[in-house]
Amino acid sequence: MIFRTLVSGSSGNAVLFSDDNTNILIDCGISAKRLIPLLCQAGISAQNLDYILVTHEHTDHCMGVGVLSRKFNLPVIASVGTWQGMNVGRINPENIVTFNNYDSFEVGTATVTPFKIPHDANMPTGYVIESQGKKYAVATDMGHVTMNIAETLKECNSVILEANYDEQMLINGSYPQSLKNRIAGKFGHLCNADCARFASYLFENGTEKIILGHLSDENNTPETAFKTVSEKITSDGVVLEDLSLSVAPRYEISINIG
Ligand SMILES: [Zn+2]
Ligand SMILES: [Zn+2]
Repeated sequence: MIFRTLVSGSSGNAVLFSDDNTNILIDCGISAKRLIPLLCQAGISAQNLDYILVTHEHTDHCMGVGVLSRKFNLPVIASVGTWQGMNVGRINPENIVTFNNYDSFEVGTATVTPFKIPHDANMPTGYVIESQGKKYAVATDMGHVTMNIAETLKECNSVILEANYDEQMLINGSYPQSLKNRIAGKFGHLCNADCARFASYLFENGTEKIILGHLSDENNTPETAFKTVSEKITSDGVVLEDLSLSVAPRYEISINIG
């Protein structure tokens, strides 16, 4: 099993899932040229990819999607709203795939359950992927954690979870006020403290491995994100030694939590 980030942050996001039969890329927010060697490092050649899932139309999630789909004849799965907003050039119509009503669907040997995320895009979507009795979730780009997200992610074995910004760093940082408001808003990004609360909930509800991802370059550091989350988890009585908590590197592949 492979479940890891290939790049992570506002400069580009991509996640690889593989259950040894089906190879799924979730988002490609960097050029296909940059992605291909990272995929190889993560253990999959681009020729062996089967599907691309897209969370939403922001460039840091879909920049390389069109080229990858054309080059390797890959089906791209996204919500109707994401398709309307996504600029990926001409794609073979057979490779344009959407889903209905957030129902689960089969993707090769895996089952995918899309879920709504509160973010300032058309119809942004997180994904739970289930295979061989285990569940893996990508939950980034969400202004807050909704009841539905909390319910959907219960008993997910491994989660890639957003820890976008430290509240004090954002307040004191150099961003214009309008951008600060957007990031901190209900449809922006998840701060370290909210991420920590949710990580603690996940660990109490069956999650064994979390990678903190989509960190802001300006308003966070890997050390700050890790410290905020690990301190909260420990103070809630969760034993950190039993779990895997790590931070996704911005430009390199993360550890494997598959
Ligand atoms: Zn976004
Ligand atoms: Zn993003």
